Amino acid sequence: MLILLVGILAATCVLAKFPKGFRFGASTAAFQVEGAWLQDGKSPSFWDNLAHLPNLTADGRAPDVGADTYNRYMEDIELMKSAGIKHYRMSIAWTRIVPRGKAGSQVNKKAVEHYRKMLQAYLDAGITPYVTLFHGDLPMILFLHGYGYLDPYFVDDFKYYADVCFQQFGDLVKYWFTFNEPWCIAALEDCKTAECPTKAYALAHAVLLAHAEAVKLYRVKYKPAQKGQIGIVLNTDMFYPKDPKKAQDVEAAARARDFSLGWFADPVFKGDYPARMKTKVGKRLPEFTEDQKKLLKGSTDFFALNHYSSSLCEDGTGKDNKGYWDDMNVTTSYKPEWKLTDMGWAIVPEGIHDLLVQLYTMYTKTAGVTIYVTENGMANKELTREAALDDQPRVDYLREYLKNVEKAVNEDKADVQGYFVWSLMDNFEWGSGFTKRFGIIRVEVDGAPVRIVKKSYTWYKNFIAENQ
Ligand code: BGC
Repeated sequence: MLILLVGILAATCVLAKFPKGFRFGASTAAFQVEGAWLQDGKSPSFWDNLAHLPNLTADGRAPDVGADTYNRYMEDIELMKSAGIKHYRMSIAWTRIVPRGKAGSQVNKKAVEHYRKMLQAYLDAGITPYVTLFHGDLPMILFLHGYGYLDPYFVDDFKYYADVCFQQFGDLVKYWFTFNEPWCIAALEDCKTAECPTKAYALAHAVLLAHAEAVKLYRVKYKPAQKGQIGIVLNTDMFYPKDPKKAQDVEAAARARDFSLGWFADPVFKGDYPARMKTKVGKRLPEFTEDQKKLLKGSTDFFALNHYSSSLCEDGTGKDNKGYWDDMNVTTSYKPEWKLTDMGWAIVPEGIHDLLVQLYTMYTKTAGVTIYVTENGMANKELTREAALDDQPRVDYLREYLKNVEKAVNEDKADVQGYFVWSLMDNFEWGSGFTKRFGIIRVEVDGAPVRIVKKSYTWYKNFIAENQ
């Protein structure tokens, strides 16, 4: 009897499945995969500029060609089709659509034609596009105006670009994301000593307002006819207290959460910054007017989450920069038994479960919106093609993380409806150049950007087939 019971239980565990209709997808971002850096009238982005500085990227490379998805998207479509990936998150490059960046400046017809053709090709292949408007590639020309984001016209410039995209592509795109990971824009930007006490907060504030204005524009001008959804993509680790029995560590974890996720999630779900931030930062935290609060509250139709890792928290200044990091006053670490990815990030599969349940209870249940995991994946050490093709650590990572997403859905009833692997293919990993590989498809970066599927691609393909 006991053996029978154990057998039934084991079978149920193996057979635990995602609900029907759950969306399994893959993600990329324009700057990281498109290449074609000056093709068809594109202007350089801030990152094009950085990547061309000597010794700035780990391998000295810039993504001038990269995976060349700009010209090779039909190959990507074939690979997605064959894996059963029917949901694809990508981004549009502002530098292609409005090369001069500013509101009112000329729209690049060639780029519009290109993206229309590409989006139509996805749809013809049965692949739904999920489109991010801004994924790190600020037009260089805007950077020259007060870091772009801090220019008083930034909101207008972004709104203009968004307007062009909604107008030109809104018949083909039903899922829009305004910004990818505003936390990275605000917290990882360098500051000169005098700017540090306020710069991160000013950046975050500007991006939140640009987001809210673009959402309003979409909802008023386009949504009634186009019937799409729009929101923002937020990233966070799962933060645990280092010692759960120590009140100080519990508070440090809550503070880390509020200073990273809450900084953006509270305004878009609740209309204002978290109380902990207001108390800690005081007058240096910009305030929203009553109108802005109304505009922000509910300005996302879903919770789009990028998540990779977890960390332990205790009191202590992070960086001594007399600003954001000192205000947060948290030191993070990993458990010694946690394995690390090639980025040095801890692999903590249960973290995604705990985080999804946290998002559900803190934000999405009350708001009545769905959660999408818009990025999750790992950099694996793949110095040779052979090592890349046998990427068992990535298979293990994806399997364990997906198991925990499934648990949040089936056991905790968190309303998660989609999961997108980062990334469909190897790409330009910002300052790391092409030294860090996140793809389930290998892209050769010496010579032609040939695509070769890895073990994790085949694993994901089978996983999707079993869970459809
Ligand atoms: C970003 C991607 C990046 C990935 C891995 C995410 O934070 O959206 O652009 O490549 O993490 O670092």
